[in-house]
Amino acid sequence: MRQTVAAGNWKMNKTPSEAKALIAELAPLVKDAKNKVIVCPTAVCLPAVVEAAKGTNILVGAQNMYFEDKGAYTGEISADMLLDLGVTHVILGHSERRQYFAETDETVNKKVLKALEKGLCPIICVGESLEQREQGITADLVRMQVKIALQNVSADQAKTVIIAYEPIWAIGTGKTATTQQAEEVCKTIRDCICELYSCDVAESVIIQYGGSVNAANSAELFAQANIDGGLVGGASLKAADFSVIANS
Ligand code: PEP
Repeated sequence: MRQTVAAGNWKMNKTPSEAKALIAELAPLVKDAKNKVIVCPTAVCLPAVVEAAKGTNILVGAQNMYFEDKGAYTGEISADMLLDLGVTHVILGHSERRQYFAETDETVNKKVLKALEKGLCPIICVGESLEQREQGITADLVRMQVKIALQNVSADQAKTVIIAYEPIWAIGTGKTATTQQAEEVCKTIRDCICELYSCDVAESVIIQYGGSVNAANSAELFAQANIDGGLVGGASLKAADFSVIANS
């Protein structure tokens, strides 16, 4: 049985003090959550959030990291720095990073390899734009993103990754993919991993849906055979809403 995972992507929201307060509000609401609970604050909030989450069942992830170990990469953050803080997960290849910060499938792959080498669990984001969906290339595009992200990743490593299917047109728009659309693409991803590695590996990989997940739609989405929870943006900023999602 795969564990269902609710991960909150706080994006560029919350100061360290606000982030601490949100954890204090969230922790009692999710203490018995059915799903694994991860919050991903902005980098500057990570120390405060790791500290506030100590002794709770909330795990902490970063929203990005660089693929080199150290050196002259102004503004970047390494896997070792995240691990030293107590961070366990890292979102990689979010569509906002691809769109605004020139992330490519190739840089995502380098980051995935580095995260796995160091022992951080990558949450790898893939997904199509509205134009690509209308062109009928969703499955091809998502399969390509998954294949490149997992290049040179061993079968044992692949079992441990989380993949988040996030149609770009559904992110932050309030326009959720239908349950059928989300399940269809998550199944496409699982089938792709089965072809790349084995069906045993594919059955182990956690595949989330992301895109306007909220307290009202999470239960139905997470009940699908190939959807193992969600990557949640806006609704993860409200403790009450995120706790409903974490318990879905
Ligand atoms: C996201 O940021 O990954 C996301 C899915 O955002 P939202 O839930 O706000 O659509």
